[in-house]
Amino acid sequence: MPTPLPTDLSRARADFPILARSVGRGEGKPLVYLDNAATTQKPLAVIETVDRFYRHENANIHRGVHYLSMHATDAYDRARERVARAIGAGDPAEVVFTRGATEAINLVASSFAGDRFQPGDEIVLTVMEHHANIVPWQLLAGRRGLVLKWAPVTDSGEIDPDAFRRCFSPRTRLAAFTQVSNALGTVNPVDEMVRIAREHGAHVLIDGAQGVPHGQIEVARLGADFYTFSGHKVCGPDGIGVLWGRRELLDAMPPYQGGGDMIERVSIDGTTFRRSPERFEAGTPNISGAIGLGAAFDYLDGLGWDAIRRHEHELLCEATARLQEIDGLRVLGPSQPGSKVAVISFTMDSAHPHDIGTILDTEGVAIRAGHHCAQPLMQHFGIAGTARASFAFYNNRDDIDRLVAGLTKVKKFFG
Ligand code: PLP
Repeated sequence: MPTPLPTDLSRARADFPILARSVGRGEGKPLVYLDNAATTQKPLAVIETVDRFYRHENANIHRGVHYLSMHATDAYDRARERVARAIGAGDPAEVVFTRGATEAINLVASSFAGDRFQPGDEIVLTVMEHHANIVPWQLLAGRRGLVLKWAPVTDSGEIDPDAFRRCFSPRTRLAAFTQVSNALGTVNPVDEMVRIAREHGAHVLIDGAQGVPHGQIEVARLGADFYTFSGHKVCGPDGIGVLWGRRELLDAMPPYQGGGDMIERVSIDGTTFRRSPERFEAGTPNISGAIGLGAAFDYLDGLGWDAIRRHEHELLCEATARLQEIDGLRVLGPSQPGSKVAVISFTMDSAHPHDIGTILDTEGVAIRAGHHCAQPLMQHFGIAGTARASFAFYNNRDDIDRLVAGLTKVKKFFG
């Protein structure tokens, strides 16, 4: 039995049934799950909430006068209030449920920027963005003749606020940037970045997909106009995510999609629309997903965010130190654990990231290998991809031991 970390959260491990399984051929190997930046595993509290909904509560919302429909409507509305509380939103109407961070960003690109921005207007992005926060803006720029400005990253994979500032001009209308890099784990100085954008009169969207899983968020305090994230990266179900936006902006934005539930009145002459959030939730939403996301925040709050942060930080420090002892292994990103979350992106001299991932998989260790949907960042470093081990609070020292043992095997194989 390995010695537990001082900040041990091993009781949480038992809440995740999948962590008890083995993977691979034959009897397989006990799973070591280190692909949490791609998606987190789900605790029983979430699995059972979704299960209970379908067994006992399922009905469509907002349209029924029968018991189940009213019950489901109530549960969906409470989930919105729960999520609003979890992210520090003052008003639940500022929480729009989407399919995920990707749809939330597309919604802002289409409804907020789509009509308002004029040819020649500029949007500031950073080179470390996930494709979800690049491609919607490129599509819009192509349609509307907008100009994209790219804030560079330093050699240690961080944003230099001065270089970020230099991307702004009197034509800048919006800055859209990630709170935490999915590929490197870098925690960006978002307070300062918001301040710089505001000084230039620009609106701000923060992509919080990798921020929400690692610490309590106070969207109102961040000072941005929009904040986006995905439920599945924060122990919630797939296919549910959130766009938080300032109420006055949301209410002034045209609908993103048309359909049922988002209208006040429809006639053959035209339609009037409801306010936010219904205006942006056309059709039947992901009811069980929203309720499951509420349960995920209940669960995480119960563990305590301080405990989560402390434990993940211990994991990061220990895993980084152990990996750096491996000859020929290079960790990309900030060198100080204080400026990153528990994501370790690395290359090895002799082995391609996919070979690293494949050999680790034979040992039951799940990591991710490739460009991590951050190709401009990989181009910046002049590499095709990295191997990425991303930790969650349910990982432990044994997982680090198994990762290191797997990498020792990679080293033996490739030299
Ligand atoms: N933004 C960041 C930083 C991400 O890491 C991801 C997913 O990995 C996304 C956006 C897109 O999230 P989703 O695919 O859940 O919409």
